[in-house]
Formats: sequence, structure tokens, C-alpha cells
Amino acid sequence: MKNQRIYLSLPHMSGREQEYIKEAFDTNWIAPLGPNVDAFEEELASYVGASEAVALNSGTSAIHLALSLLGVTKGDTVFCSTLTFVASANPILYQGAEPIFIDSDRESWNMSPQALQRAFQDAALQGKLPKAVIIVNLYGQSAKMEELLTLCNQYNVPIIEDAAESLGSTYKGKASGTFGKFGIFSFNGNKIITTSGGGMLISNDVESLKKARFLATQARDPAPYYQHSQVGHNYRLSNILAGIGRAQLEVIEERVTARRAIFERYKKSLSHIPGIEFMPELENSTSNRWLTALTVNQNETGISSFNLIEALDKENIEARPVWKPLHMQPLFKDAAYYSHGEKEDVAKELFLTGVCLPSGSSLTTEEQTRVIESLRESLEGVLVTQEII
Ligand SMILES: *Cc1c(COP(=O)(O)O)cnc(C)c1O
Repeated sequence: MKNQRIYLSLPHMSGREQEYIKEAFDTNWIAPLGPNVDAFEEELASYVGASEAVALNSGTSAIHLALSLLGVTKGDTVFCSTLTFVASANPILYQGAEPIFIDSDRESWNMSPQALQRAFQDAALQGKLPKAVIIVNLYGQSAKMEELLTLCNQYNVPIIEDAAESLGSTYKGKASGTFGKFGIFSFNGNKIITTSGGGMLISNDVESLKKARFLATQARDPAPYYQHSQVGHNYRLSNILAGIGRAQLEVIEERVTARRAIFERYKKSLSHIPGIEFMPELENSTSNRWLTALTVNQNETGISSFNLIEALDKENIEARPVWKPLHMQPLFKDAAYYSHGEKEDVAKELFLTGVCLPSGSSLTTEEQTRVIESLRESLEGVLVTQEII
């Protein structure tokens, strides 16, 4: 058992996937369109309460199409959360535009309203507002949408909500992903539900989504032959994979419950240790707790987050640092950045102290116990004294 590796976040099948896949085979819908795609779009839109959804081959494609639909092009700027996976910002570069990164705050770990406000004020002074703001909901936690929306509305700049990690989460009773002009989800293998690879673009602007479908299928003009007037992409989701997605979406609530329970157990078993702090949950929001994240204060624990991850690895347990902020990436070394406070770089701090623990919804109680024991050995430096909850 001890030798069996414990992973960060594994795919967790519901058992019904094969039925939808079989249906696709039986009806020979082996294509990037078909009944599973249509149904998956309808079911997801209905689950989050959006007018419509477009199924795509990745979350990255969904962000790319959203930027394209907002007319982001060469020379434009786009504001983007810094504490995120590179996929949030790569599509800005695809469009030849320039990202400007915005720091996190401590309460949500997501985009800091006060940093965003400074960025907007500067942009307005320079007479160059961004074409869009990409707001990420990290590890399932919603950003402070109310404050961020107020600012974006004040400057009349549309929001793309990167909810790749937050399907099933809510903010003030409303589904995560539905706050911006566009929302995007990811069904990559490690996400809360998966199609192995896939994504979804949602909006209440049905006309825009019609255009998204057009752009996602090589931008073919309505003509009796193949005619094209603009650049398109091949971004649609396979009907087979959409079948997996349908079965996965049926159990999303169970998956959220399971991940939240794992977070609670880690918290109960570890939060007595001085120097350990768990990722907060914003008031009036429910995180899907996609990944359990915590920070380690080396002065108090005597071990850095990176050494802790190494120690866990030796026990055959996969843990990871939190995302390395994009403003610290070589790829974006020339990009502008607005930190939370003048000398307060929250995202950098979270990167230097943050750890993500194994959080998959299929993680067994025994596996969780193994993670907790290993953590306590490393952090307390002594044999486990307190009974494990
Ligand atoms: C996974 C992820 C994406 C990209 O989704 P893919 O489906 O892998 O392209 C984008 N943003 C965030 C925050 C993610 O975690």
C-alpha cells in the first residue's frame, strides 16, 4: 500500500460513461458534432443557468474564442489574474495582444479589486483601456465578483470568467462562471469532471455563441462550396468525449461534496499546527475545493513548502506548489503588473508558501490518512501524538 502513489487529482468515472459512448458508436456519430455534443451543451447550460453553451476541445480554446469574439487583436491590452495556470493568458498572445497582470488578495487568493482599480486608473490616464478582463477562480474559489464587476462596469470593459477550476462552485447563490460576458470551463483530465480533454464556452449572448460555433468550425461561410472570409479554428468537442462529459455532469454535486469533505478532513487534522493556514473561503460563496491548498510559514514550521512537497514525494505522495504567478514567468517578463499593495505581492507570497494536496474525489479514507500522517511527520518533526480525525 505504502508504495502505491497517491496523485493530486485523478479522473473519477461515474460508471455511466460507457453507455453514452456506446450510443455514439451504435449510431455512428464519431465526429466533432452529434447528439451527445448537443445534449452536453444543453445540460451544462441548464446546470449553471446560462442561456447557451458551446462544447469545445479545451478550456484554452474557449478563452481564445471569447477573446476573439470581444475583438481582441494586435496592439490591444487584456487584464488577467496573475495567480493562475498559463492557459488563462496564452490566448492573449495568440491574438497578438498584450497581457497586464493583476495580483490576488488574501481573502480569495483571486484578483484583487484594489489592484484592478489601480490598473484601470492608469489605463484610463493613458487613454488605453483593456479590451477584456480575464478573472480566474482559483482551485474552485470564486473571486470577489461583486467588487470586480462594479469596477469593470464602471470602465465598460467585459469580463471573461475563467471558471476552468470552479464548475459546481457558487458565489452569492449564483453559479461560478456566469458572472462575466463569457464564462469558460475545462474538462481536462485533472479537473473536477473530465472528458479526458475538453472545454465549454457559456454566455447569455446567444448571437456571440453562434459566432463562436462558426469560428470553432473553420469559419465556413454559408455558400454551396467551401468559402472562407476569416481565420477559423478546429475547436469543437468530439461526440464521443461529450458522452463522457454527460455522464460526468450527472454526478457533479457528489464530486463537489467529496472534495469539500476531503478539504474539511485535512483542515481538521492539520490546522492545529502552527504556521499552517488553509485557503480561505470567501463569505457568501461555496468553493468546489477542486484542490485543497494551504500555506506553510517556514519560520514556524521549520520546513519550506518546496521541501514539504519533496518530503511527500519521498512517501510517494504527489503534492504541488500553487501556480507560479504569470508575472514571474520568463514568457511574460515584459508584461506590466499591478500588485495588491505597493510592496505587497500577494500572489508571489502564495507561490512561495503554497502547497496543493491530493484532492481527487476518488481518494480513499486510507489514502487521506497517509497524506495526513506524512504531513504531520514533516511539519511536527515528531511522531504523531494527536489522534487523527
Ligand atoms: C485547466 C485550466 C485551463 C485550461 O483548460 P484546458 O482544458 O486544459 O485547456 C485554463 N485556466 C485554468 C485556471 C485552468 O486550471
